[in-house]
Amino acid sequence: MTRATRNTSISAAALAATAAAIVATLALALAAQAAPKPAAGPAAAAPRIDDAAVPFEEEIFGWIEEITAKGIRRAGHPANLWVEDYLVDHFRRLGLQEITKQPVQVTAWHEGETGLTVSVGGRSHDFNAYPVAYVRKPLRAEAPLVKYREGLEPAAMAGKIVVFDYLLADESALSLMASALAVNDPKGDLHQTKHAIGILGGRGRVGRSAAVVNRILEAGPAGVVVVMKNYHDSPYIFGSPVVRFTGPTSGSDIPTALVAPSVGARLDALIARGDAQGTLVASARTEEVTTHNVSGILPGASPEIIQIVSHTDGNFSGAFQDAAGMSLVLAQAKYWSQIPREKRPFTLLFLLTSAHIQGSVGEQVILAEGAMHTESGTVTNRKAGAAVARDKGRLARTMLDIHLESPAREYAIGADGRLVDVGRGEPMRVFTSMAPALSGAVSAAVKAEDVDRSIVLPADVLGGHPRSAAGHFHGAGIPVVSFIGVPVYYFDGADGTDKVHRENLVPMTRATIRIIESMRGQTKASLLEGSDDIPRGGYEATSDAFKRGENTSARAQAHVQFVLSFDRNGNREIDPDEEPALLEAVRKRLAR
Ligand SMILES: [Zn+2]
Repeated sequence: MTRATRNTSISAAALAATAAAIVATLALALAAQAAPKPAAGPAAAAPRIDDAAVPFEEEIFGWIEEITAKGIRRAGHPANLWVEDYLVDHFRRLGLQEITKQPVQVTAWHEGETGLTVSVGGRSHDFNAYPVAYVRKPLRAEAPLVKYREGLEPAAMAGKIVVFDYLLADESALSLMASALAVNDPKGDLHQTKHAIGILGGRGRVGRSAAVVNRILEAGPAGVVVVMKNYHDSPYIFGSPVVRFTGPTSGSDIPTALVAPSVGARLDALIARGDAQGTLVASARTEEVTTHNVSGILPGASPEIIQIVSHTDGNFSGAFQDAAGMSLVLAQAKYWSQIPREKRPFTLLFLLTSAHIQGSVGEQVILAEGAMHTESGTVTNRKAGAAVARDKGRLARTMLDIHLESPAREYAIGADGRLVDVGRGEPMRVFTSMAPALSGAVSAAVKAEDVDRSIVLPADVLGGHPRSAAGHFHGAGIPVVSFIGVPVYYFDGADGTDKVHRENLVPMTRATIRIIESMRGQTKASLLEGSDDIPRGGYEATSDAFKRGENTSARAQAHVQFVLSFDRNGNREIDPDEEPALLEAVRKRLAR
């Protein structure tokens, strides 16, 4: 994009002056939040790590390979149930106590036959397609194809198969760095990472695409073909309930399928020839399945609990998301099982939750929020009262939640639409609650253990909760640390073991040990006392406000305003021309 495309009705000088004033104001606001202080008191002693007890990379990666090899691990699928017992076996062998499988009812979703046939001028063309998650049964449409364009009247879409170009949002590491407490950027290339992510909902540009899909569905089309316009050449995004189009039930009987960008280009050419007739088949089935949250405990010197958490489900076979997360939790269990009880600073709970991708169903069962409303319907916590009381008692003693997710390699989308290995790790976001003793320890740990390309962020800076599986625990008033990478293939079928950033497995393991050791002398009360990021209205209130586009904390507001001060075109994204100025501002702030 060049300066010539800008709105020229305001002078460049006026814009620059306004931007400078905004940046100066926000720099002050950000500076006030930005300096994590070193931990005080007993926690200031250098944390000790027993090097001999840290699992090797080969062992952790071996668990990831074993889990991924079992196939699709969506909640309730056979591989998802298998991994629960795999985890229990490991926990038993490591000598964990109170090993528990806690029931979680889920609606399992299985894709079925899906595809598009287009006939023009007596010839037919077959295309691969993938159903979106609100397809729950075999659906079929035969109708003329029409390409959606802005201003197309609902009457022109009714009864047709509407083809729509969907634009995913770009996420840039640089915009995250703008609010970072610390970064570990050994090669100085963190700011270069910028790519679309495969999430079919949300705000900004992708929210606008989702809104258009909803308008198309309301027009009463025979079917909808969603072209993943700026994605790699794949239709395999699991359009999970948490990333759904905002009005999913309105489309439940309308066959809707995703197609790759190359298919979109061929459809454009066929539609342009006129009189294109389509047959769209989109099918899936669902079944009610009892899955489980799996947990085990290692008691320590203090009854206060640090829980170390990931989730059992994946979008497809899920290597980086999240066989890797589970394996990182296993690595913690293995390490701490070799440390004598009196030397473990806290009681450690190792927890793998179910159906995180379906709307954090497993997490909500633990938090005993009663009836939960998810895409799959209403899920009730069916546990006996005593079990709920046990969870509540345990949560009251939980001083810290550490979530381990998604160490991914960075891939880009090549000119031919294929995924290209960039040859480095995807930025690792590390959200932390804003208790100084904690955020300081987290920043120190990612640097000391060289967690590759990591960005330490206030837990509430991206809209109230960490954008990770830790969100619900954060909403429940528990201090959190949450590691998560968000690559281009985030919800995609391409997630295999080649996508895992294996060089980061041991650094993440060691950083987690270091953070836990750094908490010696701290209590839940001491962490909460110094922390100002715990949401007041609970998880739902904060996340609903976020979905309405309200940024729910002062830090989140400052972040958005600061980043948008580098947006001159009103796209709610940093203008490429402004990136050098933002990078300079970010580097200055981080150097202080
Ligand atoms: Zn995950």
